This record gives sequence, structure tokens and C-alpha cells, in this order.
Amino acid sequence: MQDIDAALNAAQLAFTGKRPKTKAMHDRAAQVMPGGNTRTVLFTAPFPLRVASAQGSTITDVDGLSYLDLLGEYSAGIYGHSHPRILEAARAALDNGLNYGAHHEGEVKLAEVVTKRFNMDLVRFTNSGTEANMMALAAARCFTGRKKIMPMDGGYHGGTLYFSHGASPVNAPFDCVMGQYNDVEATRKLIAAHADDLAAVILEPMLGGGGGISASPAFIAMLREETKKRGIVLIFDEVMTSRLHPGGLSAKLGVEPDLKTLGKYVGGGMSFGAFGGRSDIMALFDPTSPTALPHAGTFNNNTLTMNVGHVAMTEIYTPEACAALNARGDRLRDRLNDLFMRYQVKMKAMGQGSMIVIHPAAGEINSPHDIEDTDKRLRQLLFLDLLDEGIYMAERGFMALSLMVTDADCDRVVRAVEGYITRRRELLV
Ligand code: PLP
Repeated sequence: MQDIDAALNAAQLAFTGKRPKTKAMHDRAAQVMPGGNTRTVLFTAPFPLRVASAQGSTITDVDGLSYLDLLGEYSAGIYGHSHPRILEAARAALDNGLNYGAHHEGEVKLAEVVTKRFNMDLVRFTNSGTEANMMALAAARCFTGRKKIMPMDGGYHGGTLYFSHGASPVNAPFDCVMGQYNDVEATRKLIAAHADDLAAVILEPMLGGGGGISASPAFIAMLREETKKRGIVLIFDEVMTSRLHPGGLSAKLGVEPDLKTLGKYVGGGMSFGAFGGRSDIMALFDPTSPTALPHAGTFNNNTLTMNVGHVAMTEIYTPEACAALNARGDRLRDRLNDLFMRYQVKMKAMGQGSMIVIHPAAGEINSPHDIEDTDKRLRQLLFLDLLDEGIYMAERGFMALSLMVTDADCDRVVRAVEGYITRRRELLV
């Protein structure tokens, strides 16, 4: 009988043995950054990869080992690495002057594209998805004159808005009432109980980082109905999910929230965030009003993001490209789930379209609670085994396909996962 700890130890030793330069750079990094890390999600044991270069769908580490990049920068890297049209747009932006400390046409053009595509009356730009959500929540509080917000237990909206197992100690100090994802009646009751104090309900229409769990149409319908009835601002965090349909996941669901937030790929791979929606709420930020709310940000309209984002959204991630990419992701997820069924292992691929999350779990997964007790060591083992096959994804099982990933790449992924199953089968049944 195989032992999980022994298998993981052996995999970690093999990982370390093949990466002396990565290990040395990790030790060097740890002299100047806590744990050698400046972005928590990138840490993996025994030490994380350090990439030296990337091209197309391939990344190469400092030890010279190459991998198919299936992580896709946690959904921001939809264009793959060094897409020629992105490079051209970035060079054109650089040639025209970086950041003017003034308005320019680039921000108007990107705002026109984003509002039309994602059905917003008005939009404002930020530098990250975290900021976009912070501003959307602040806008909701000022608009309603109420203090509390309702995120979902297990939701993620940025480094200061992290609600797994309660709330992160570094969260912004909002007064929170935790909703229960996909629990229609419990959450309806909570909204009713706190209605007078509740400014906003915020959720992802599919939990991305939270495990690829989709909100049920009944849950979304209840939230829309209750928030509308009670004057609460409904915010969809579409930082990740907007890539799943040409108009974002809300368009696919046919439900319009009051505000939406965007991030990741929309800026063409540059730092990006945006919040927007109903004109009466967004008008709070209109500086021609004597009571306007401030919304600062030195790089909010930076010329690189504005110009490259516009090219990316109009010429590359077109509605047709979006549909094709998501169809490829659906095919890959189906093939993975077929494998899991065929081998009768406790594994499941969740998500929608081009976002796939593999869980070491069987059965229904409708809320973050359903995956709470899954074995982290099995995720680590899958991660290390796939790395050994030259495939890079997130340790938590998350993949986001880029436009550079081909059907042949998907075949390779299926073969590698099948290899993992046959090698580790005793641990997975
Ligand atoms: N919201 C969601 C759903 C996310 O997945 C993320 C990042 O992963 C964020 C917000 C935060 O975006 P950023 O990392 O750009 O601050």
C-alpha cells in the first residue's frame, strides 16, 4: 500500500534534485523577502519555480527546464507569452510617451469597449482587481448610507478581501455578514435579518480561486430579487469570470448586478482593474459635482494598460475567440472527468469553459464546504507529478487556458493526468 507522505516526500526530493539553480535563487530571495516571496499564492513547497523566460504557451525556469503553461497567470495571461500583437501595441504605447499625468484618448477608447462589452453605464479604472472591489464596496456604502457588506464564505476578492475560513487577518476592516454560497434559504434569511444595515452583497458568479464552483441560477435569482427589493447594491466580481462569455458570466446567466468589477486579462496582460455599472451609483465619482467622492490612483489611466488593453479586447480576445477558447476548455474538462470516471478515482474537474479546477474529491461540489476536507497532499502530488511531465498549473489544481494552448497540448495534459492516476491509483480510490 502506498503512503501519501512517502510519495510526497519522494516527489519533493526529486523536484529539488533537478533544480539546483532554482534552490539557490530561492535561498537568495529569502535573504531579502520573507520566505523569498512577494506574492503568497506563488509559494509551493519545497520551493517555487523561478521562471527565466516565456514564449507562447511555454515557460522556462532558471534551471533550463521548460513547461506547458496551463496556469495562465491565474486567468490574466489569456494571450499567452509575448503575443506579437500585444508586443506591437506595447511598443507603440512606449514610443508615444509613458503616463502623461493627464487624460488621453486611450482611456476613452478602453472605457468605450469595456462598457459596451460588459454592459455597464459607466466605468472607472484601477490598477488591480483588489482595488476595483475595494472601490465598488466603498461606492455601495456611500450610495446606500449603510455600513455592512455581505461577501460569501469561501469567496475571494483580493488580498484585503479574502473570506476563506472566516476572514483573513489582513482584510480591510469591513463589518461583514457572511453569506453561504448556493444556500438559497440560509442566505435569504441573513439578508432579511441585516437588510437595514446592508450596503452590498458581493460574489463571483463562479468561484474561481475558490474551486471552480458555479453559482446556481436559483441562488443568483434570489440574490437579485432580495437586493433589489431592499435597496442593497449587488456586486458581481467578474475579475476572473468575465473571460467565460463574451459579455461576462452575468450575460451568460442573464442577470444584471448593480455593479461589476473586472481585472486580469482585460488590460492585455498589464496591471488592470475596473469597476462600473449603474450610472446613478458611478455618478458619485463625477468630479464636477461639489460632493464627489474621490477615487485616486497614479496609474489608473496608465498609457500601457489603456492602449494594450484596447488592442487586446478588440483584436485578440474577440467574442469569437472567447467562444472558441471556452469550448476548448469544456472539451478538456470533459475528457478529464471521463478519465476520473473510467479509473473510478476520487477526482473531479470543476469550473466552466477555459477555467478548470481539479479536486481530489468525488461527489457533488456545490459550495466551498464540500471541498474543505480534501487532502492537500494529493493536490501537491498532482502538481509535482505534472511538473515532472513538463506541465505547470496551480498547486491548488487551478488551470486557465491561454489562447496559445492547442488541442495537441490538451492531449498531452490528458496523458499526463492519466499517468498520475495509474501511478498513484491506490491513493486516489
Ligand atoms: N477578484 C477575484 C475573483 C480574483 O480572482 C482576484 C485575483 O485573483 C482578485 C479579485 C484580485 O485581483 P488582483 O490580484 O488584480 O488584485
